[in-house]
Amino acid sequence: MRMENKVVLISGASRGLGATQAKMLANEGASVIVGDILEAEGNMIVEQMATENKHALFVYLDVTKSSSWNECMTKSINRFGKVDVLINNAGISATGDILGTSEETWDRIMEVNAKGVFLGTRAVLPHMINRRTGSIVNISSQMGLVGTDTSNPAYQASKAAVHIFTKSTAVRHAKDGIRANSIHPGPIKTPMLDETSIEPGRLEKVLSGVPLNRIGTPAEVGYGVIFLASDESSYITGSALIIDGGYLAR
Ligand code: NAD
Repeated sequence: MRMENKVVLISGASRGLGATQAKMLANEGASVIVGDILEAEGNMIVEQMATENKHALFVYLDVTKSSSWNECMTKSINRFGKVDVLINNAGISATGDILGTSEETWDRIMEVNAKGVFLGTRAVLPHMINRRTGSIVNISSQMGLVGTDTSNPAYQASKAAVHIFTKSTAVRHAKDGIRANSIHPGPIKTPMLDETSIEPGRLEKVLSGVPLNRIGTPAEVGYGVIFLASDESSYITGSALIIDGGYLAR
């Protein structure tokens, strides 16, 4: 199995892309920590995995709080002894353009999507540096690589921050045996996509730019996550994996 003996901490794994990653990584032999603010959903995922004899733990994690990350790391190490992989997946989005984005919305999106990735990385780094191994996978977005009028501008800016923060992590910590890569999904069927598709015509406009002409599935992102999390990608760091049906190829 591709993730045998690996321990993976995933933020925002109670639903959507993160929940699929948790199940797919466990199917490849990983022990998985589901970190999220959604406790009922997270516990349900972990219970379901336990019935399939998978090793999983739910930990309440608010990615915007340094103390929450520290508690999550302590609980993860107490249970599984180590953390090999961090997947910074938690994220929020919003609708609206620049004039329609409040300061509060800007701050909140930056806090979860950009600061959350920084705090998560800072929380796992000492452990990974000590062990001289680790893989960090940051879930950015196609919207972090290009300007559009179909995505909230604060969301785009936050995902662009994740893109370069990933490269900074990769360059600084290669000497410690740690790799860091980002993934840039296009439109994928999750609760977030449903929530941001309430703007009339938005989804149709996004889809008109996707050469494969369909929305992606969470599993299609999950396969990329497994690759970057596992030792199969041992010579890959600082890279950006685009999984977008060809949107950015135009
Ligand atoms: P989702 O809304 O379905 O799931 C996001 C998860 O993050 C939820 O479980 C939520 O509770 C959690 N979360 C939110 N705030 C948190 C916090 N402060 N602390 C901990 N957890 C928190 O969204 P999704 O579509 O599964 O998105 C997952 C990631 O993929 C996000 O970073 C998103 O920006 C990115 N992404 C999604 C798409 C898409 O089309 N679905 C495209 C590109 C990128």
